[in-house]
Amino acid sequence: MTKRLYLSLGTNLGNKRENLTRAIELLSLALGKCIAVSQFIETAPWGFDSENSFLNCVAAFETSLAPMQLLDMTESIERGLGRTQKSNNGHYRDRIIDIDILLYGDNIIESERLTIPHPLMHKRDFVLEPLAEIAPETQHPVLHKSIKQLMEENKEQTLCK
Ligand code: AMP
Repeated sequence: MTKRLYLSLGTNLGNKRENLTRAIELLSLALGKCIAVSQFIETAPWGFDSENSFLNCVAAFETSLAPMQLLDMTESIERGLGRTQKSNNGHYRDRIIDIDILLYGDNIIESERLTIPHPLMHKRDFVLEPLAEIAPETQHPVLHKSIKQLMEENKEQTLCK
């Protein structure tokens, strides 16, 4: 049985367009059919200061891999593309590629290594905007709201800050 999988990709070093394109090619080979890719959007660093802006996108796949296999695969692709360090205790830094697992069908997973839906996805414009482009009506299985609704709520909250 296959699952619909949504991944968030980001990069703020090197040839960013090439980094995202290469990552999507490798992910398609490793995970299964790529169903949709959002536009690539330029965004400011989130959670840390850097002079290097990010290029972000969201991609959807149809996969038969189990969640832990997926995480092994996305981490191995990150390393293959040259990423050497993970973020540490919420401390972020510049990176050649970052791949986050956003949604895996409507599964809810909480383990030491993996939380799905991604715990910060509903707070990040750089995730919600491209995700709403390719999956506006998809429901968040914990918050029970559509991606479009989450995006609008997050925009309002950011404006009110
Ligand atoms: P990163 O922010 O990419 O450096 O990831 C740090 C760690 O977050 C990884 O080593 C994963 O074990 C963990 N993690 C937990 N949930 C997720 C998720 N949904 N997608 C990606 N990584 C996750």
